Amino acid sequence: MISSKVLDVTNHPSFDNHEQIVHFEDPATGLQSIIAVHNTNLGASLGGCRIFPYASFEDALTDVLRLSKGMTYKSALASLPLGGGKAVIFGNPRQIKTAELFHAFGEAIESLNGAYITAEDVGSAESDMIEIAKKTSYVAGLPEAIHGQEDGVSGNPSPVTAYGVYCGLKACAKEKYGDPSLAGRKVAIQGMGAVGYALARYLVEDGAALVVADLHKEALEKAQAEFADKVSIGDPITIHAEDVDIFAPCAMGAILNDRTIPDIKAAIVGGAANNQLAEPRHDLMLKDRGILYAPDYAINSGGITSVGYEYFARTGRNPYTHPLTSGTMMAHVARIEETLGQVFTLADNKGLSTGEAADQLAREKFMETPLPRVSTQTSVA
Ligand code: NAD
Repeated sequence: MISSKVLDVTNHPSFDNHEQIVHFEDPATGLQSIIAVHNTNLGASLGGCRIFPYASFEDALTDVLRLSKGMTYKSALASLPLGGGKAVIFGNPRQIKTAELFHAFGEAIESLNGAYITAEDVGSAESDMIEIAKKTSYVAGLPEAIHGQEDGVSGNPSPVTAYGVYCGLKACAKEKYGDPSLAGRKVAIQGMGAVGYALARYLVEDGAALVVADLHKEALEKAQAEFADKVSIGDPITIHAEDVDIFAPCAMGAILNDRTIPDIKAAIVGGAANNQLAEPRHDLMLKDRGILYAPDYAINSGGITSVGYEYFARTGRNPYTHPLTSGTMMAHVARIEETLGQVFTLADNKGLSTGEAADQLAREKFMETPLPRVSTQTSVA
């Protein structure tokens, strides 16, 4: 039997007028989870399910409060009719996963009546989403195999994220050099994983030269085989300090910090990694050094757009007047270029850091501008 308890944490330092924070426990399956719904002004909240062996309840609570708020800003700035939410499940993903645990988690999501839609995140995988979907329809990012529609919007979001980063880097080039073309530019990519590799393809096709770094030799060998003289191999420890035009962090968070920022030679920093700034103040540190920073949640929203479109299509909840196809989805993602242009203009006009400008634009969208709402009523079982 799952028990649920609404948490009253208004005094918590990471509380930001969250709408709902619920703690779920199911002794039978070992499920221990917190779901936080930050804001649903624009629609049901969508955000991944993180499975992590938190050291304490407090750590898990802080994480879910912070991450759910971030999702509100990311979806709003991407003009998605979605709010911000997140779930955390306590435990080591290598040890706790069972079908029963995900069924219990699905029931927990269902009990929120559509206020929260889950998706993959650190520690959770597509196969877990399939189990959750047996108990609730409020799951996004399901694979094509169980999608049952030939709309081309389901599947792996990583290539879509990469396309969005590529579009965002064009906005950065336009702001910095007056020309969005990336031809002839030199780009250092940290992390040749799902997103970094796909980004490399877009950049090479456009005529850019690359320096890439990864912890895994195979990823680098693959890049060398495919991109030949367009790529050289950098060191994971010093990739941020390469003498390039653009540094694209596509690995882990907190890469922009007191140690790395003084060494950055690139004029532009923009990449897929989440939470790139070690602390909010590092945004200002980049500004002071004259480095143009594309706020991470603004440039990497291709992934949430992809899972959002998949969810809208599968559940028959199309909030738009356009059909949900891979073409309309990619056109939506391409608007990252325009949105980042607006972020840079606002930052220039008001003397703000780009992070402050992105936050301001996002807040205007989810606090003031109505977008078409996604119904929270289930239309497909
Ligand atoms: P991934 O796990 O496929 O790739 C990450 C790569 O980075 C791996 O190849 C890993 O070996 C490498 N790496 C790790 N530490 C490194 C280091 N210190 N130096 C160099 N390489 C290092 O992950 P991904 O899906 O490509 O995502 C990359 C980043 O983008 C993550 O921060 C992720 O949260 C973020 N992101 C991804 C998506 C998406 O759609 N996949 C969407 C939004 C944000």
